[in-house]
Amino acid sequence: MYAWDMMIMQPVSSRPSESEMYEALLRRDPQGEGVFFVGVKTTGVFCRPTCSARKPRRENVEFFLSARDALHAGYRACRRCRPLDAGRRPPEWVQRLLQSVDARPDHRFTDAQLRSLDIAPTRVRSYFKEKYGMTFHAYCRARRLGEALNEIRRGSPAERVGPRQGFESPSGFRDAFSRLFGAPLGRGRDVRCLAADWIDTPLGAMLAIAGDEGLHLLEFVDRRAVEKQVTALRRRLGATVVPGVNEHLSSVRGELENYFAGRSLVFRTRLAPVGSEFQLAVWRELRRIAPGETRSYAELADAAGRRGACRAVGRANGDNRIAIAIPCHRVIAADGTLCGYGGGLWRKQWLLDHERASARSASLLVRERRTSAVE
Ligand SMILES: [Zn+2]
Repeated sequence: MYAWDMMIMQPVSSRPSESEMYEALLRRDPQGEGVFFVGVKTTGVFCRPTCSARKPRRENVEFFLSARDALHAGYRACRRCRPLDAGRRPPEWVQRLLQSVDARPDHRFTDAQLRSLDIAPTRVRSYFKEKYGMTFHAYCRARRLGEALNEIRRGSPAERVGPRQGFESPSGFRDAFSRLFGAPLGRGRDVRCLAADWIDTPLGAMLAIAGDEGLHLLEFVDRRAVEKQVTALRRRLGATVVPGVNEHLSSVRGELENYFAGRSLVFRTRLAPVGSEFQLAVWRELRRIAPGETRSYAELADAAGRRGACRAVGRANGDNRIAIAIPCHRVIAADGTLCGYGGGLWRKQWLLDHERASARSASLLVRERRTSAVE
């Protein structure tokens, strides 16, 4: 075959036939990963080809070449194989490792122990270096220090907290503490430390960051800007971010669950957006748009007391860092087109459709309207 034959053939052969896809599905063929997704008509759920769930009959499936297409066709992401997180979610061995870390936060894992978990130490080193820019031990230490700091702020004496979090000597604890938080241990109560958590949603995983004042950030993790946003937040607040949980993070996790299940579209988690006075004013107005409704940029500018400042209002809208809870997705162009959305237009469309459908149930709508008044 000549080169040009190959070129002509390729687009055809890269799109497998339906029967090829069904065969691959039955085999749970990893080659199908990322190539196609399968919607199961009887359950309304869509999966990756390698999903461990029982395989549906041929007449009950529909194939899609992207997860978005499956969502647009009305399918929900499978909870088992998480088709929206393909390639983004930490691999299975990392999840296993992090579970072991959670179970024994004060423990120092040796190479031999990693091997006994069936995990190669070199793999661990390169993964954490690439993903978090630190070694696995540094990651564990950051987590333990975050916990230690929380205890100190709750009033535990530092000399008792150190050993409890697995620091052998008081001086080792002091050094590690001031290196990470940039403040000596004696000032532990003043150090600002934000907790970051990973929250799975039907539209893909989100990163949530909250401090004592409330939720500062909620973003889809596949957004290219998310790392820059975290850095900007840290600088702006002069804070350190460590993996962990707090009351605001647990609260928003629960509310997102209710939101996506259509049980309630209202967020009561305390929000602490970081921005200029003008941005804060725009974001306050956003929270007054009821679920199931939309506003144009001009209407939003009016409401924020900046008649005609559509551009600036549009920018402030786009600068929102607390997705969904501050509903910047409810602002669309005057002609009804979606305009833009940081998390991707397909998500904006999905959120608006979901809110309209959930709000249509009249009783819910009445209840939400009454309670969505903001501070
Ligand atoms: Zn599945």
